[in-house]
Amino acid sequence: MESLEKKSLNFIEQIIEKELSANPGKNIITRFPPEPNGYLHIGHAKSICLNFGLANKYGGKCNLRFDDTNPAKEDTEYVNSIMDDIKWLGFEWNGEPRYASDYFEQLYNWAELLIKKNKAYICDMSADEVAQSRGTPTIPGKESPYRNRSIEENLELFSKMKNGAFPDGSKTLRAKTDMSTPNMQMRDPVLYRILRSHHHRTGDKWCIYPMYDFAHGQSDFIEGITHSICTLEFEIHRPLYDWFLDQICEEGQIRPRQIEFARLNLTYTVMSKRILLDLVKSKTVSGWDDPRMPTICGIRRRGYSSEAVRSFAEKIGVSKTDSTVNFAFLEHCVREDLNKKAKRVMAVLNPLKLTIINYPENQTEEIELINNPEDDSAGKRKVPFSKTLYIEREDFAEVPPPKYHRLFPGNEVRLRGTYFVKCTDFIKDSSGNITEVICEYDPQTKTGYSPDGRKVKGTIHWVSAQHALQIETRLYDKLFLKENPFDTEDGKDYKTNINPDSLKVINAYIEPTVSGCAVPESYQFERHGYFCVDYDSTPEKIVFNKTVSLKDSFNKINK
Ligand code: ATP
Ligand code: MG
Repeated sequence: MESLEKKSLNFIEQIIEKELSANPGKNIITRFPPEPNGYLHIGHAKSICLNFGLANKYGGKCNLRFDDTNPAKEDTEYVNSIMDDIKWLGFEWNGEPRYASDYFEQLYNWAELLIKKNKAYICDMSADEVAQSRGTPTIPGKESPYRNRSIEENLELFSKMKNGAFPDGSKTLRAKTDMSTPNMQMRDPVLYRILRSHHHRTGDKWCIYPMYDFAHGQSDFIEGITHSICTLEFEIHRPLYDWFLDQICEEGQIRPRQIEFARLNLTYTVMSKRILLDLVKSKTVSGWDDPRMPTICGIRRRGYSSEAVRSFAEKIGVSKTDSTVNFAFLEHCVREDLNKKAKRVMAVLNPLKLTIINYPENQTEEIELINNPEDDSAGKRKVPFSKTLYIEREDFAEVPPPKYHRLFPGNEVRLRGTYFVKCTDFIKDSSGNITEVICEYDPQTKTGYSPDGRKVKGTIHWVSAQHALQIETRLYDKLFLKENPFDTEDGKDYKTNINPDSLKVINAYIEPTVSGCAVPESYQFERHGYFCVDYDSTPEKIVFNKTVSLKDSFNKINK
């Protein structure tokens, strides 16, 4: 039994459990370290679930730290959205949010320490010159002509850099490591640059900023992070982070252990803040929270619940090798969750009038229907029924195709939850379009069954024309036509892969039981899919976003 349980641990849990068995009192501190330069996406959700999940599982803590070392691209709008998204996902960070910018003073002092140890120098080469002198993994780089400045000169220049004596980009502080090592990250990397840019927290206090690589590992160290979990691309940065810690750590101090895992990739999805920002700026989508976006705020508006996202993250697991998850699997998790929670209602998206010729003119009945067959506690509702209904246009055929069990002249079907109706006639307009279906109902079949045991093969949904509410539905499809959105013909922009039909807006009719619904309520529109209330709704008109289709939606069967 024990070995079975062990098997289901992911490789990071295995590492932690091994450490804990050697050192039972060990504190586990993880962190989620976003750069506030955009909104979080579903890939970040994986990292959040992993970092907070491990802390929760092992009685530890997870810090939230904004890695805000690049003032030109960062903004408090992003800081706030990131906090909202983490809370929405259901996690609580340890204490106050932290910021790499809180450590700028300490980082500056450590940079000075490196200079004093003759491990860093001020370099006057331009960014281009530095790039050109770096070599390739097989060709060693060239040492900077400024590499052998004296410690005193370096200290003085660094202090002047800080005090604004030099123009932007004219000097950098570089580590003195090794220009010939095969690991390019270790070839005298830049630690500080001059940049006069207003910082969202430190304002104009600094005109030099540490590079991400110089800030990240040390920030983990300052916070006492025990497990610094990051994506695979940081594996080659690890020797550099270790080198920095070697210079500043003292005996016995806790050093973060960096563990890399494979980032989440999803088919039909771009997962880069830079590209997502481009989609927003180019107005390809309506904003960061457009329901077609893979951002956390986008999928939230789309109607995905935090439970579904957490369950998705749990099920895809954590691995050491890159792979791409099928988007359909995410939708499967969303459906599984909504199936349990969403109330069923009837909505007609493509209406056709149906008149029950033998039903009393001014009569209204209430039909009692189950809200959710998966959940008894969801109870029942009463849906008004009358002489004139709307049904889906696709549910009537003048000449039925093979195996068509819905309405056609002479055929009898069940109206969802109630009477049998038989088509006796239909009406066309002058251009030949069917405008109305005429039926007779059997008053004996109100319960949805016939006392004489007569069976019908089809059941169709309906709304009462005079009681139905008009709503707007926004039907979404994938934002990209290709599994890999970057798979384009030579030189063409990824935007050539945008699906021009990713949004269709249609007005529809829905049973009146949804009146009073509010964001973010979800419903299953029977036979259509799951829909949620959008914040664009007004008292006059509810707007619904289509979250996901039903697995066997009749649209598919029709095709
Ligand atoms: P992007 O490349 O989308 O701009 P990023 O890695 O630059 O993302 P950060 O703000 O640095 O964004 O990310 C914060 C954390 O989220 C990092 O620890 C990063 O490793 C993790 N992360 C980012 N994208 C993914 C992903 N697709 N799957 C898993 N974790 C991710
Ligand atoms: Mg990053």
